[in-house]
Amino acid sequence: MKLTQPSAEIYELDNRPVTHMAIGAHPDDIEFMALHGILECFQQADKGFVGVVVTNGSGSARDGVYRTYTDEEMRTIRRQEQKKAAIIGEYRSVYFLDYPSSDIKSPANFGPRNDIASIIAELKPTILYTHNPADKHATHIATAMHTILAIRSLPAESRPFKVYGCEGWRNLDWMQDDEKILLNLDGHENLAAALAGVFDSQIAGGKRYDLATIGRWMANATYFQSHQTDQTERMSYAMDLTPLILDDSLDITQYTLGFIKRFEENVRSSLTSFQS
Ligand SMILES: [Zn+2]
Repeated sequence: MKLTQPSAEIYELDNRPVTHMAIGAHPDDIEFMALHGILECFQQADKGFVGVVVTNGSGSARDGVYRTYTDEEMRTIRRQEQKKAAIIGEYRSVYFLDYPSSDIKSPANFGPRNDIASIIAELKPTILYTHNPADKHATHIATAMHTILAIRSLPAESRPFKVYGCEGWRNLDWMQDDEKILLNLDGHENLAAALAGVFDSQIAGGKRYDLATIGRWMANATYFQSHQTDQTERMSYAMDLTPLILDDSLDITQYTLGFIKRFEENVRSSLTSFQS
């Protein structure tokens, strides 16, 4: 497979059949948004998890022992951390597309889209996780958009069966309960902690993404239903993006705003029913 960036890398650990794939903007996004897929494939001979990391992470904030690192050194350490996670989580492979963050925010740059399309066409994952389009991080949104457009460039038989937009820089608690895709993360808590903790260059200096993300999963599990005891201990939510790849004419913005509109209607109806 030919990837666009000369510095791109395919890190292969085994050759299990690919069933689950996550496409994340930065090294560490995959672990925080697609743990469900990692756990589904862990210790399974017939299921393989593939991570795709779109940016090189060179512009990330740095502190502690990393404070004096150059952008190039940050790029190297973040790639190493992602490889450590792949070993711990028993991924089948990781694709480092290696774009500078600024390069992927332009819809006119077809490199990321072409790379993602080639990877999906060759590996044919059944379930694909990416960022949700209502995320607040521009690089996450760009990654989700490139992913949807890449899938739309493929024939129907090469497309995944399901595409999920996952929680990252904004959670999905506000979505209507019956529209939430519930991703049960119970079991292997030690593995989840190890995967999240490996990204030391992001956590050092006080951003406890590891604790915050695990805390979010626990909060989701507890706050999902008010009148029942918890069915799960850890859960992440996803927005179903599958309709966007079943119908190419569906407008991505309008589709996303539809979830927000139904949230608005729900709040309005709760308040007006009290007042009337
Ligand atoms: Zn990210």
